Amino acid sequence: MDWILFGPPGCGKGTQAERLSGGMNLYHFSTGEVLRENVKNGTELGQKADAIMKSGALVPDDVIIDMVSAKLSEDAVKATTGVLFDGFPRTIPQAEALESALTALGRELGGVLSLTVAEEELIDRLSKRGRADDTLDTIKNRLQVYEDQTAPLIGFYKERGQLFEVEGMGTMEEIEGRLREVIAKRQG
Ligand code: AMP
Repeated sequence: MDWILFGPPGCGKGTQAERLSGGMNLYHFSTGEVLRENVKNGTELGQKADAIMKSGALVPDDVIIDMVSAKLSEDAVKATTGVLFDGFPRTIPQAEALESALTALGRELGGVLSLTVAEEELIDRLSKRGRADDTLDTIKNRLQVYEDQTAPLIGFYKERGQLFEVEGMGTMEEIEGRLREVIAKRQG
């Protein structure tokens, strides 16, 4: 069963995805992490993505969708209990592409774990992280891009009965516990 860890930039998706995937034989797949690797290695994809990421905008849907399709066909992924998507999907077309891909592959989406965090807390967390795309201007742009392009996914998954809201404030242990509870309930 696959899961999507969802929420605005700075909500703790990456940290929680690391914690969850460890004990659960879930494959942690962060599209942002794969993009950063490509930037570091100077690949064609990395060269294309670098400036976009630094501005806080989104990499084009077709690029991301190809990346995800390639990942889902890897043996290492097929051998796990499920994939934990982190930072994907970020647009409605990405969510639609994922839905078709999962159906075609006979995979099941357990649900979308949506972490809710107050906006002041997000800016505070992001400005302490120190990543190349964590300057104040980029942070503001990324939050705006989230509101415009990614937040509509909440309605998309709510309509499908696949959205699970999880309080993203508190200690890392508390948040992890809440996420595990949702997963355990669905996995039965
Ligand atoms: P993240 O590590 O998830 O915060 O992603 C860092 C940056 O990578 C984002 O600000 C985007 O520029 C790009 N990125 C990551 N995932 C996606 C995605 N699913 N769609 C478009 N752009 C993405």
